[in-house]
Amino acid sequence: MALLIKGGEIVTAESRSRGDIFIEDETITRIGLDLTAPPGTEVIDATGKLVFPGFIDPHVHIHLPFMATFAKDTHATASKAALIGGTTTFIEMCCPSRNEDALDGYNTWKHKAEGNSACDYAFHMAVTCFDSKTEAHLREIVRDGTASFKVFLAYKNFFAVNDEELFHTLRLAAELGVITTAHCENAELVSQLQQLLLAEGKTGPEWHEPSRPEAVEAEGTSRFATFLEQTGATGYVVHLSCAPALRAAVEARLRGVKIHIESVLPHFLLDKSYAERLGVEGMKHVMSPPLRDKRNLPALWSALQAGLIDTVGTDHCPFDIEQKLLGTNNFTQIPNGIPGIEDRVNLMYTFGVKRGVLDIHRLVDALSTRPAKLFGLFPRKGTIAVGADADLVVYDPTYRGTISAAGQASNNDYNGFEGFAIEGRPSHVTVRGKVQVRDGVFVGEPGRGRMIRRQPQYSAQNVTEEVATHAG
Ligand SMILES: [Zn+2]
Repeated sequence: MALLIKGGEIVTAESRSRGDIFIEDETITRIGLDLTAPPGTEVIDATGKLVFPGFIDPHVHIHLPFMATFAKDTHATASKAALIGGTTTFIEMCCPSRNEDALDGYNTWKHKAEGNSACDYAFHMAVTCFDSKTEAHLREIVRDGTASFKVFLAYKNFFAVNDEELFHTLRLAAELGVITTAHCENAELVSQLQQLLLAEGKTGPEWHEPSRPEAVEAEGTSRFATFLEQTGATGYVVHLSCAPALRAAVEARLRGVKIHIESVLPHFLLDKSYAERLGVEGMKHVMSPPLRDKRNLPALWSALQAGLIDTVGTDHCPFDIEQKLLGTNNFTQIPNGIPGIEDRVNLMYTFGVKRGVLDIHRLVDALSTRPAKLFGLFPRKGTIAVGADADLVVYDPTYRGTISAAGQASNNDYNGFEGFAIEGRPSHVTVRGKVQVRDGVFVGEPGRGRMIRRQPQYSAQNVTEEVATHAG
C-alpha cells in the first residue's frame, strides 16, 4: 500500500520547504516536488498545511499503580489520545514497586502494552530498589531493547531510591551506556514538610506546593548532577518545574556534567494558583513537582527556546475526580498527576509558536527530534527523511477550537486545560505509513503499535577526560 502526502509545508527541526512525501509500506521512500505516484496510491492533499515528523512524548504513565489506586488510561485509550494529538510514539515509565522484582515488573508492563497500543512505544525502566538481583535483571532488560532507566529521588518508602541505590544504578548505567532519567526532589524533606503542615491543620490542595518548595527540587537536581559527575553516567532530569532547579541543572552542564533537561506541558501553561482553587478544582492540579509561582513561566519558555531545556513531555498521568477526592481531608493522599498526551502539541504550538515565544523548528526539535536522539529512536523516528518510519503529522494551522474533557479520547472525566483555546490541530496522522487519524478523528487500527527496541548509545567515557575536552 502506497501513500502520497501532497503539497504540504514540510517542517523539521532544521528546515522548512514545500514538497510531497511518498510512502511505501511503512517507510518514506521519496521526498520532492510534484512527485507522481502509481495507480492505487492514496493521496492526502496537504495544501495549506504543515507536515511534521510524528511527535514523541518522552514521559508518560499509562499502567500505573500509585497511591493506593491506578491511573485511568489503558494502552488503547492513551494511544488513541496520543494520535489525535499528533504523538506517534510515547515512552512509558515502567514503575514496579520497591518489593517487586525489576524483571517481573518489566514483563507486566510489556504485557499490558503488547497488542493494545495504536501508536509505537518504548519504556524507561524505573529502578525502585537496588538489591542483589537487580543488576542481572537490569542487564537483561537493556538487552531486550529498553536502554534507559528512571530513578525517583522523591516518594519516600514507595518509589524513592536512597543515595547508595542511586550510586549503584548510575554506575551500572555508565557501564552499559544507558541514559538515566530522574525525578529530582528530596524525598525526606518532602516527607518532613508534609507532616509539619498536616500537624498545623493545613490539609487542602493549596498546601501541596509549600510541602515541596522550589529549593527541594533544586537540591534534588543538584544532588543528581553530583552523582552523575562522580559516576560518569549520562542523566536526564524529568519534569523540571522552576528557575532554581533549572539553574542547578544548567550550572552542572556548564561544568561538564552530562545532564539533559525535560520540562512538561503543565509547567509552561499553569501556575500554582490552579492548585489553590477550592476543593476538587485544586485537587485536579496536584502533581509533582507541583505547579509553581507564575514568575517561573517566562524562565522556562526562554530556556526552552534557547535549547537549555531539551525536551517537552507531558508526564501524562490521569486520575479522575473520584480518585482525586481520596485526598479530600489530606493533600498528601491526592493522587499526583494530570493528563496531557492529547493536548501537548496543540498547546505548545498555540502558546509557543503562535505567540512568538517558540521557533517552529525548536518546537519540532523539543517535541520530536531531540527525544528521538536522546533515547535512541533517531533517525528511524524524529525526522522526515528517506528511510525513516513514515510517522507523519499533517497539521492544520487554521483550525480553531477549545480544550475540553467533553469528547477527549483519554479516559478521564476532567482536563486540566479546560477552556484553553487552540490555534491548530493535526488533521491526518500516520504510524509507519498507515493513516490512523483522518480529519482529526481516530480511524486507525487499535493494536498497530509496536515496541521500539533501542540500543545503548552513551559510551562509558572517563568523566575527567570529558571535562577536559569541554574546557579545551
Ligand atoms: Zn512521571
